[in-house]
Amino acid sequence: MAASEQEKKQQRIAKDEKVLRAFIAVYCQVHHLSGGEQFDGVTHRDQGREYCSECYALLQYALQRNERCPLVPKPVCRHCTVHCYKPEMRQKIREVMKFSGIYYVKRGRLDWIWHYFF
Ligand code: SF4
Ligand SMILES: [Zn+2]
Repeated sequence: MAASEQEKKQQRIAKDEKVLRAFIAVYCQVHHLSGGEQFDGVTHRDQGREYCSECYALLQYALQRNERCPLVPKPVCRHCTVHCYKPEMRQKIREVMKFSGIYYVKRGRLDWIWHYFF
């Protein structure tokens, strides 16, 4: 892969990582860390944000998928024909993206939204 293509890929990965961290964190804060029934009291810190065990596992999984995406150029996952996520993880990330997409749109982050609905 040429240097500029490699750079573009790294930029794309970094941008998607930022969105994944922010979207999963706000979902977790509202549904788990602030007192949800499923919260087991254990928190995991990642780049200044906190996650419950389940959401942290989802984050790690999604980061790995994002990094290893075989498609060039990578489409938004919502439009992907491959769908490399396990069904259980796909269902979770869709729920997170839907909730957090609406959350951020209400707070003016229109730039984040439509690309990232899973
Ligand atoms: S779902 Fe598709 S676009 Fe998203 S990371 Fe997997 S292969 Fe790539
Ligand atoms: Zn959580």
